[in-house]
Amino acid sequence: MLKTLPRHAAMEQFPILEGELHIAGKPISMLAAELGQTPFYAYDTKIIDGQIKRLRETLPASIKLHYAIKANPMPALLQHMAARVDGLDVASGGELASALASGMSPADISFAGPGKRLEELDAAIRAGVLLNVESRREVEALADLSHQLGLPARVAVRVNPDFELKSSGMKMGGGAKPFGVDAEEVPALLTRIGELGLGFEGFHIFAGSQNLRPEAIIEAQQQSYLLALRLAANAPSAVTSLNLGGGFGIPYFPGDTPLDLAPISENLAALAARAAGELPQAELVIELGRYLVGEAGIYVCRVIDRKVSRGQVFLVCDGGLHHHLAASGNFGQVIRKNYPVIIGNKASPAQTETVSVVGPLCTPLDILAERMELAVAEPGDLVVVYQSGAYGFTASPRGFLSHPDAVEVLL
Ligand SMILES: *Cc1c(COP(=O)(O)O)cnc(C)c1O
Repeated sequence: MLKTLPRHAAMEQFPILEGELHIAGKPISMLAAELGQTPFYAYDTKIIDGQIKRLRETLPASIKLHYAIKANPMPALLQHMAARVDGLDVASGGELASALASGMSPADISFAGPGKRLEELDAAIRAGVLLNVESRREVEALADLSHQLGLPARVAVRVNPDFELKSSGMKMGGGAKPFGVDAEEVPALLTRIGELGLGFEGFHIFAGSQNLRPEAIIEAQQQSYLLALRLAANAPSAVTSLNLGGGFGIPYFPGDTPLDLAPISENLAALAARAAGELPQAELVIELGRYLVGEAGIYVCRVIDRKVSRGQVFLVCDGGLHHHLAASGNFGQVIRKNYPVIIGNKASPAQTETVSVVGPLCTPLDILAERMELAVAEPGDLVVVYQSGAYGFTASPRGFLSHPDAVEVLL
């Protein structure tokens, strides 16, 4: 009798057939053999497409869907996204170059981020992308550069709101923050933007990340809308772009439930209807990262050694924190929790045991799963970490300890 491990509700995106996890129709052991190496990240385009389709079918048609590329900037994945979303949001000169190479029209690329260097501002003006300005210094620098280049600068003001996104994994607005311009300082900045003759387009308000509570997201979107409406009174020209942020979360931990899009969608429809009267030229934008790609990716590494230390079993793998900082619990988690993990080639195990899965690094932080019930595994078996399509490969200290790098594959 094969035992089925309790599976996370959201973890059904990858079928399990004949005891093996499959991705894009392939058993995981076959994919590992084809790639000729572990560890690797694999991303399934069908799952990404399904997520985009769900959003398109649920959200009002007038809402523009942007992809925040810091979640996963793999070039092949970006190219895939560029053909399917309405815009890309970047946060560095490097990301700008990747976004431009993806095929997305510069008209639909926006560039946020505190501390943009002059070279980055220069590249953004030349490319014709929208700059979400985050300080007075950026506004002055853009005016100078625009004058020197003889090219217009497109600007929106990133606002640090006077509210927070409640119960969010990472708060990025409200209170004292390095992100955006404090709401109370924005009217003066708008006056300055007008004096300098910059091409004003609107506002960008991003309150936070990884939220699974529709009420909290709805409240933040409503407050963002009202704040933008209030600020628009001082704007040098009509608001044509209003980025209401995102924050849509995905389930990572036991007890997390998938985000219910329906109430969020209703609220966005109501805001869109209001905007049609109050900010008639404004396009409403939401920007999502992990919600679009997080569930579509897995991280796979191989068990190198199985050790028993004073009664506790440790599976020591060829991958860990250096490739997947977030799964190790060191990327913004306050209390370490396990990402969903299985032994991918023993996914319907006859026997399970409680083990800790660790990486090869000489640091106690290098943990992929702590005391989890998994199939009884041996050296050679494949550990699969779910929910790894966002904040994995490029959000990890891959140089730390000089182990071989992971590879990425888009399927
Ligand atoms: C990081 C970031 C995002 C994406 O966040 P997710 O949680 O991945 O959706 C969107 N907008 C801004 C401004 C960000 O900094």
